[in-house]
Amino acid sequence: TSLNPAALEFLERIERQFYLDDDQLRAILAQFLKEFELGLSKYGESPAMVPTYVTHLPDGSERGTFLALDLGGTNLRVCQVTLLGNRQVEMNQSKYRVSEALKTGEAEDLFNYIADSVDHFLTTADVPLTEDETLYLGLTFSFPVEQTAINKGKLLSWTKGFAATHAIGNDVMQMLQDALDRRHIHVKCAALINDTVGCLMSRAYFSGGCILGAIFGTGTNGAYVDNMSAVKKLSKDAFEGARPDHMVINTEWGAFDNGRKVIPRTIFDNKLDRESINPRFQAYEKCISGMYLGEIVRNILLYLIDNSILFGGDSSKQFNAHYGFDTELMSNIASDKSDEGTACRAILTQKMGMDDKVVQPNDIAIVRWACTIVATRAAKLSGCAVAAIIEQTHCADGHEDFVDVGVDGSLIQFYPGFEDGLRSSLRVLVGEKIEKRTRIGLAKDGSGIGAALGALASLKQE
Ligand code: ADP
Repeated sequence: TSLNPAALEFLERIERQFYLDDDQLRAILAQFLKEFELGLSKYGESPAMVPTYVTHLPDGSERGTFLALDLGGTNLRVCQVTLLGNRQVEMNQSKYRVSEALKTGEAEDLFNYIADSVDHFLTTADVPLTEDETLYLGLTFSFPVEQTAINKGKLLSWTKGFAATHAIGNDVMQMLQDALDRRHIHVKCAALINDTVGCLMSRAYFSGGCILGAIFGTGTNGAYVDNMSAVKKLSKDAFEGARPDHMVINTEWGAFDNGRKVIPRTIFDNKLDRESINPRFQAYEKCISGMYLGEIVRNILLYLIDNSILFGGDSSKQFNAHYGFDTELMSNIASDKSDEGTACRAILTQKMGMDDKVVQPNDIAIVRWACTIVATRAAKLSGCAVAAIIEQTHCADGHEDFVDVGVDGSLIQFYPGFEDGLRSSLRVLVGEKIEKRTRIGLAKDGSGIGAALGALASLKQE
């Protein structure tokens, strides 16, 4: 580029703040293990390290037909899942819109609507069910709950625009079961499953084993299997029967480093955090996930605009708007391999409202650079969590099997080079040999198939 030396130095100073060297990565891994230990030994810590009461992972031999519900976004999804027992699945599904009125009204109305949707699904979809047969249901529920059994969990808080009244503090499974019973629907609620747990279980079913289910989408989180001896906060009387040997733990790792001990934060991160609806929370997630990466880039670009280094000091309504630059645009910019950045220019002019005459080749290079430094840091930080789970579970010790990681989310699926970046820090932290043995694969429909596997696990654990 033809940037003047002062401007170049300005950019280099920013770039250095986003760079994570090997020692910093190692410090992050060590802090992960420390926070895992604390979260497993006490309630109220962050990350929360939530015991899920799922005590076994599937291996692909599971069979049976289950109903799976997925509540957490714009739509409620109802699926019928048949596990064929040879790592194969058959399923059909319908989506039901959850209106704003239902999201923010009375919880009973919301759960009645869910029951009505199940009823509609069962009568319209061709579910082979005799009158007196009970269908078991798994619910993927992507909100914070405190579980006391695989089929019991109190809602702690709503997120993502849900705010139905008289729900917080109540057992989600019971509210759903009551609604189903009011309509005399022969469905029994068997499992309450977090989306990361569904991801882990689905991947385990299809590949025969899995050490971690991880989401890199709007947010980030992971679930893994730990020895019960490590789960010190669960007392003996937490179980009606025998204490199991293992349990799936939902880490809630988005809250890693909330104490700001190890991740070097830039002024762009601090601004994002200060202006967020949850300052000082979800610290790790704010450096990594789809909801935030575009906003960090936007903060960098605004800073460069204000210093007259970018776009000759011009901005646009879109660039000035909070969360005005979506992570998907970063991904599209990173996918553009052309020398002149044709796609980048199109995004800047068509989506971001910049005047075509204002956008110079240097500006395009700067925008591409900003996307790269933010995404690279995110990917490397993501690798630290994966390394932490490999260390925590000792899964790579001794034998030569694959270390299988199931993933889901737009970022890991679509962002060019995200997996490479994740692997680069994994190599630093666990060594090249183990990194090579690590198989990272998409978990097929974790929320549908995972919930069905959860329902089956619940029956087996009874
Ligand atoms: P969710 O996590 O809500 O289930 P996704 O996994 O699709 O859903 O993640 C949505 C997030 O991913 C949004 O923050 C969005 O900005 C981002 N995103 C959407 N498309 C892409 C893409 N092609 N590449 C990278 N990120 C994307």
